[in-house]
Amino acid sequence: MLVGDIDVHPIADGTFRASPSYFGDHVTAHGHEDFFSRHGHAWLPIGCFLVRTGSHVVLVDTGMGPAMRDDGPRMLVGGQLMAGLRAIGVRPADVDAVVLTHLHTDHCGWLFDLAGQPVFPRADIWFGAADWPKFVLDPQSTMFDHTRHGLQSADGGRLHLVEADTTVVPGVDLTMTPGHTPGHLSVVVSSGVSRALLLGDAIICPVQLDEPDWQSIGDVDPDLARRVRERLFRELEGEHTWGAGAHFPELQFGRVLAGEARRWIG
Ligand SMILES: [Zn+2]
Repeated sequence: MLVGDIDVHPIADGTFRASPSYFGDHVTAHGHEDFFSRHGHAWLPIGCFLVRTGSHVVLVDTGMGPAMRDDGPRMLVGGQLMAGLRAIGVRPADVDAVVLTHLHTDHCGWLFDLAGQPVFPRADIWFGAADWPKFVLDPQSTMFDHTRHGLQSADGGRLHLVEADTTVVPGVDLTMTPGHTPGHLSVVVSSGVSRALLLGDAIICPVQLDEPDWQSIGDVDPDLARRVRERLFRELEGEHTWGAGAHFPELQFGRVLAGEARRWIG
């Protein structure tokens, strides 16, 4: 995917299997058989995006890491990000910045190794400040211990706790999109007249355009998450604005065709 002069390369770290109840107790596969296509489940990627601006390399989300988790409505199996980076000739030390859309385990898995050492040794780390107390300081949170330990002992100068819209490097900006988590943010890649939004879990899948009541089981504030989704869908009506979430099928970019019957086009 080229956004003006900037290359945005999707890489799947693994698989996220979601049952209808992941999207809410009221959701069934009926009418969405093509989405819940295998044994009644949706098989979605655990996505990361490598953004190469020409002067900087920015990794957006770091997948689940070599781990798995099964809590019923969702099953996550990660581990492929490093192979995906190797396949395109990118070494961990090439990455200048890592942006985490939020601090759920399937987005910060490859941030630190099991000893709590940074996997991307030169990279600054950017994420929403409001996720810090929720995930890092709360020992009951879902965060893996080595990730919590890594963040707590990281060089403070490397950590950027984001409280408002800001710029990471020229062409890569962050916009606050809370609701899924308190500090959730999305990434705006822009070059010339072209823009791409990397949505994290602010929109889990394009089906939510037609099904605004489909939530994520992980939304901490479902009402706010829904309002933010609607705001983002509106932004994706722009002719030069494309978007992809971390769990979009095939990590494919799309946008919204405005009009009487709004629909998603990929
Ligand atoms: Zn996720």
